[in-house]
Amino acid sequence: MKTVLDFNFLNKTALIRVDFNVPLDANQNVLDNTRILSAKPTILKIINDGGSCVLMSHLGRPKGWDLKYSLKHIFREVENTLGRKVIFIPDCTGEETLKVLRSLKPGEIVLMENLRFYDEEINGCEKFAKRLSLCGDIYVNDAFGAAHRKHASTSVIADFFPNKKCSGLLLNKEITAIEKVLNTGERPIVAILGGAKVSSKITIINNIFKKVDAIILGGGMAYTFIKAQGGEIGDSICEDDKIDLALELIERAKENNVDLYLPTDVVAADSFSNEANKKELQIFNISKGWQGLDIGPASIKAFSKVIINAKTILWNGPMGVFEMPNFSNGTKAIGDAIKISTQNGAYSLVGGGDSVSAVKEFGLDKDVSYVSTGGGAMLESLEGKTLPGIAAL
Ligand code: AMP
Repeated sequence: MKTVLDFNFLNKTALIRVDFNVPLDANQNVLDNTRILSAKPTILKIINDGGSCVLMSHLGRPKGWDLKYSLKHIFREVENTLGRKVIFIPDCTGEETLKVLRSLKPGEIVLMENLRFYDEEINGCEKFAKRLSLCGDIYVNDAFGAAHRKHASTSVIADFFPNKKCSGLLLNKEITAIEKVLNTGERPIVAILGGAKVSSKITIINNIFKKVDAIILGGGMAYTFIKAQGGEIGDSICEDDKIDLALELIERAKENNVDLYLPTDVVAADSFSNEANKKELQIFNISKGWQGLDIGPASIKAFSKVIINAKTILWNGPMGVFEMPNFSNGTKAIGDAIKISTQNGAYSLVGGGDSVSAVKEFGLDKDVSYVSTGGGAMLESLEGKTLPGIAAL
């Protein structure tokens, strides 16, 4: 797979698929520009070569041409983040647009309208992809967050640039991070998995058994494992139809010589609320009327020890209901242990949804080696799937 570093963009127009699907507030102001910032190195490399850039992205999940999701709302933020003037074009493939794009001068940057205003984008329409391909000389995919989609701009389009397609620097970073954790990482490798349900993480667990030395399981999913082993979990979250599966996973861990760590104690609440009464309980003895919403101090201590001795760490999913301050301590403590381990030389990757929000909320995002920008794409990579956006390159 070629990368942007393999091309010289002098007098060329790069057609770059970026992931500018940023969160907006009710007034359509950008709440977090991380995704724009993450694409900046690729854009600057092309501009510094003497090329021009056509940026294409989706924003949200519009049904048709819904201006609430127009990229014009983020265009000023793109200018501010890149520190350069950007031309906004209110469509993607019109005749006028193609005329403008063909006369771009070196250093110019264009942002096109939301790709998902066209049904053809999501349908992976070849005709639409071909038309999009007329917008640039070299196709660059830097949209890791959309790489698990087989859409026109993320995958189908690549066929129209047989020798002129490459990955951007962000896509490279994400691929390297996954490689480091799953294939080339220094041992011991520890995966920390949390979140609400076993069912949403089962494919990841199955894929990493052969790749890691230890798995720490926390969060809501742990209670299914405890009940499977005969524990009393009170009103804690549990997937009863996954109890046999939990027992199977415990066996598979043994067969693969993977140390499986489950919490031993919890902070339990008498209702699912930050204001609930709380008390510390052994995880095998949670009485009726109580539910575990966070891991307890003994679990924090045991998990931290494993994390601090690790050389490679993957973290996906919170240890408890971290959105409620009274039950966020376990998740924060695990983040702190990863910080210490990283300071001691370990490589740490935080990826996929809620753990990313958690490290940001606790101000730990600069203290880990890498925070993934792609939720679904990261999860599918950890599941061992080949992403269509990457395969197409
Ligand atoms: P997921 O999207 O599967 O990673 O799950 C993340 C969600 O799991 C977060 O919103 C947490 O609040 C929730 N969660 C974590 N631990 C628990 C728990 N013990 N009980 C209920 N929900 C939990």
